[in-house]
Amino acid sequence: MRGSLAGPRVLLRRLRELMAERIGAQERLDKIVALIAANVVAEVCSMYILRADGVLELFATEGLNPTAVHNTSLSLGEGLVGQIAAEAEPLNLSDAQQHAAFAYRPETGEEAFQSFLGVPILRAGRTLGVLVVQNRARRIYLEDEVEALQTTAMVLAEMIAAGELAAISRAGVELDMSRPMHFIGAGLAEGIGLGHVVLHEPRVVVTKLIAVDTDEELDRLDQAIANLRLTVDDMLERRDMDKTGEHRDVLEAYRMFAYDRGWARRIREAVDSGLTAEAAVERVQSDTRARLVRQTDPVIRERLNDFDDIANRLLRELMGAPHIADLDLPKDAIIVARNMGAAELLDYNRDCIRGLLLEEGGPTSHVTIVARALGISAVGQIAGVVSLAEAGDAIIVDGDSGQVHLRPPSDVEHAYIDKVRFRARRQEQYRLLCDKPAVSADGVKTRLLLNAGLLVDLPHLAEAGADGVGLFRTELQFMVASSFPRMGEQEALYRKVIDAAGARQVTFRSLDIGGDKVLPYIRTVTEENPAMGWRAIRLGLDRPGLLRTQVRALLHAAGGRRLDLMFPMVTEVGEFDRARLLVERELAHLERHGHKRPADIRLGAMIEVPALLFELEALLERVDFISVGSNDLMQFMMASDRGNTRLSGRFDALSPSFLRALRAIVRAANSARKPVTICGEMAGKPLEAMALLGIGYRNLSMAPAAIGPVKSMVRAVSVERLEAYLANLLDAHGANVDIRRALADFADAEDIPY
Ligand code: PEP
Ligand code: MG
Repeated sequence: MRGSLAGPRVLLRRLRELMAERIGAQERLDKIVALIAANVVAEVCSMYILRADGVLELFATEGLNPTAVHNTSLSLGEGLVGQIAAEAEPLNLSDAQQHAAFAYRPETGEEAFQSFLGVPILRAGRTLGVLVVQNRARRIYLEDEVEALQTTAMVLAEMIAAGELAAISRAGVELDMSRPMHFIGAGLAEGIGLGHVVLHEPRVVVTKLIAVDTDEELDRLDQAIANLRLTVDDMLERRDMDKTGEHRDVLEAYRMFAYDRGWARRIREAVDSGLTAEAAVERVQSDTRARLVRQTDPVIRERLNDFDDIANRLLRELMGAPHIADLDLPKDAIIVARNMGAAELLDYNRDCIRGLLLEEGGPTSHVTIVARALGISAVGQIAGVVSLAEAGDAIIVDGDSGQVHLRPPSDVEHAYIDKVRFRARRQEQYRLLCDKPAVSADGVKTRLLLNAGLLVDLPHLAEAGADGVGLFRTELQFMVASSFPRMGEQEALYRKVIDAAGARQVTFRSLDIGGDKVLPYIRTVTEENPAMGWRAIRLGLDRPGLLRTQVRALLHAAGGRRLDLMFPMVTEVGEFDRARLLVERELAHLERHGHKRPADIRLGAMIEVPALLFELEALLERVDFISVGSNDLMQFMMASDRGNTRLSGRFDALSPSFLRALRAIVRAANSARKPVTICGEMAGKPLEAMALLGIGYRNLSMAPAAIGPVKSMVRAVSVERLEAYLANLLDAHGANVDIRRALADFADAEDIPY
């Protein structure tokens, strides 16, 4: 049965007027509860607000004993109010005192009231408080009344989020909204960022909550839902990934939600009750989120992200999307996102970014690599943080330990300020090392090289004291661009890189696109397993136009100088042969047209696919050098997706099996007298780099920030003793040995920093 719809609309209109009145927060709350009580014909209306200590405090009441305000409280889960807050579900009871959870508070005088309706005050699925109405006579509240109360609760949530209640909280008592929170995730890029939250996909801020003309709002909603359905259908029809790289199953989930009649009906009902279309979407999103978050079934919980996405899309249909470039960034922005692509990070003004926080994000995903290149500290794998953070909240991101402090208390903040000063001093020490050679304590020479891909990386060559660029990821230029970089643009970049490197050598890698490296302007087909799909050299050989253009750009840029070029994801020797043939043809073309050829050309292959380990001899006969891509080699050897956050940390690169494989590669290269470098992320971690030295690697290529710490390690280690120690671990023991622990013991005993 449905009551009249006029009631809630009148209530909302009055609320809107009340919100605009220039009165104090307490007076406003008092008037609000009086207004609600009158509107739903209840004798009592009370508002409880969740405090930072997990207690729900009575902040305003109409009908209960006024002296109970700010004096009555219930813990989360305690009493009916506590249960509503804990479960984020309304309770509608005709005989409240018979309910098992009822908790009697004599100071309120509530024993006189039988019926009880309470709804959670929700924001982005978070409970901020509880709103209750009560009546003396027994009754069940109508569906419309529940709806009206929920709608009102949403307006109150905005008022709480705006910080208006802080003024009337007792001294020293904080509201839950401003509660400090601490999370432990995975450190992705080192460094410490102190700053303020910028939401990457800003929750579309609904500023107009209460409708002026409900029919007009219903029309807007219908139109937006129709547009949304068209967009989703279109995305699916293209049967490819859309710009954000979403896959088919995600799109199917979008479609399911977009066409869900229940969803559309609930939003319409919220509009009927007096909200604007966007406020209605937000309210239903918040309710659904609150319900899904509490589900124990992981499959349902996983749908939460898809649901949030589709609701956000609908909000953008209604309100338009803010563009990153238009965002007004604070000078100390910490970007908070569920996940993001590398190009999206580059859209931000680098000078303003102090840190990056991702709900997902793996240590070797591309956004992480770009964050490291830019020297932005980053932490990943903190589920749900996007809905817990408000834009503008103070936040600390510790990329070294993976810790995040949201709204930190001042002692934590001061401790971090000290830490930042300490790091600055250590960086100063690394800078002093910059001109010192990377030679071990017992005189073994190593070459520490940079992984780069953007022009911003190049000043690091001198600053960090690197010996050259061991891996230039050419795809980064493509990932940053909004359209396909033409040959001239490619050539210009390569020339600048070679110029900037001067006497130092640069190893370019041909385009490694596909996998997680999606170019928004190239349509690729959706693949079940993109990391093992049509990517890198495979794509390069099948679409030779692409590779040819790049090779031509490289040959032009390196005219008269040396060119080192390697190919990613080589799986069989024949692929390298074909790539070399392509380079030779381009060389001939260059000469025919009278261009200057490079003074020297060296072609190499990356070892990233385990199959190549069994063709090493044949490969080494053909190449001028090899380079181990340990990120991919590890993912394929361990059959463990490098971007899958559930698996990161599960298998250790310092395992006997992986180290033996790496050792086999360096041994084969040494026998063939071909240079070998390792350029995956492990080469940039001091303990891992030490293991690599111990099995024979001498050329290590890493992110700029890693050079200092790795050089400190190298200069302290005796390679001879390390080799003997590691050989014993790998040869004399079976599989059951904790190499990481053993190496840390060795480093401690020998006073090697790591
Ligand atoms: C690797 O796989 O280790 C590597 C260096 O290449 P990328 O990380 O760019 O795939
Ligand atoms: Mg790789």
